[in-house]
Amino acid sequence: MFLQKKIAILGSTGSIGKQTLEVIQQFPDEFSVVALAAGSQLELLVEQVKQFKPKYVAIGDVNLVDTLRTSLAGLDVAVLGGTQGLVELATLPEADIVVSAVVGAVGIEPTMAAVRAGKRIALANKETLVAAGSIIMPSLEKYQAELIPVDSEHSAIFQCLEGRNTRDVARIILTASGGPFRNYQPELLENVSVADALKHPNWNMGGKITIDSATMFNKGLEIIEAHWLFDMPYERIKVVIHPESIIHSMVELTDGSVMAQLGLCDMKLPIQLALTYPERRGTTFPKLDVIQQMQLRFQPVDDRLFPAVELAYQAGKIGGSLPAAINAANEMAVAAFLQGRIKFTRIIGIVSEVFGYHQKESFSKTPDLQEILAVDAWARERARELLS
Ligand code: MG
Repeated sequence: MFLQKKIAILGSTGSIGKQTLEVIQQFPDEFSVVALAAGSQLELLVEQVKQFKPKYVAIGDVNLVDTLRTSLAGLDVAVLGGTQGLVELATLPEADIVVSAVVGAVGIEPTMAAVRAGKRIALANKETLVAAGSIIMPSLEKYQAELIPVDSEHSAIFQCLEGRNTRDVARIILTASGGPFRNYQPELLENVSVADALKHPNWNMGGKITIDSATMFNKGLEIIEAHWLFDMPYERIKVVIHPESIIHSMVELTDGSVMAQLGLCDMKLPIQLALTYPERRGTTFPKLDVIQQMQLRFQPVDDRLFPAVELAYQAGKIGGSLPAAINAANEMAVAAFLQGRIKFTRIIGIVSEVFGYHQKESFSKTPDLQEILAVDAWARERARELLS
């Protein structure tokens, strides 16, 4: 007999949140949903509450709290709102696992709260580690919290490192699909459309991360995420373009042996592992069949085509509040691109300018959580000025 684990999902209406619910449905005896939180997708959230019957629900947009309450009238569920609502759900005494799957820096406070509450955190919100890795990682031991990566690359590295001594590790190699523009000439990037950028060749994901994949800023965020998760110096984190996205990442050992984790382009596997770890479970989900004709290709990153990767390395190496600043600038620039307000190449242009301003105007080498949140707000304002 085992005790049923209770799960709180922050970001339940997004791509990762919806797939987490699909995973939970495969194991009705093992997992139940205790709390659901979404940003603003009220209708889907209401549907999810009716289906999964959590005890708590929160909506990030405080203007929608009353509507949510009315929509759920008669149901036995507590309704909360705003960042405070997310923080409360992240710290519920009855939650065993917190799935942190909100998009962007809005995940920082609830994820940190879950750490302080000593939870197992299934982390899909990479922006939290990018901005606040220096605070989150040392806190894990202090509060006896556990962080299991859900990002497919980091789940792969986590699996390749399982049971290994870190001194045997030479390099971490993150794979990247290269997105829809991997074979473009840099000059042609200027005039690509929103629809072009949203056409990811392999993965079906939310809008923000799909644009981040097209610029490869996503891989930049993942470099910084890997640095914190695996305590690895930036010099030993490498990126290779692997168009098929079958190898989710690799670890090279000191003797030259390279470990890889392979799978379909399906986030349900890393999500499930974060819930069942250290155990494994069979499911009815489609699985990779390697007994077939298949080619796996690799190519280095062209820095002229993808300047975001080198920019992220620089920001990571300088550290302090700089990764938080460029992350916030990117969130603003991506939103503006999706609204058709700026050209594709301007996204990283804005990130690069905020990088420079931040070093001159408001850089902090050892920021605390409040300073990181302040830098996030500062960078958003700076990006807003550049965008207008
Ligand atoms: Mg990823």
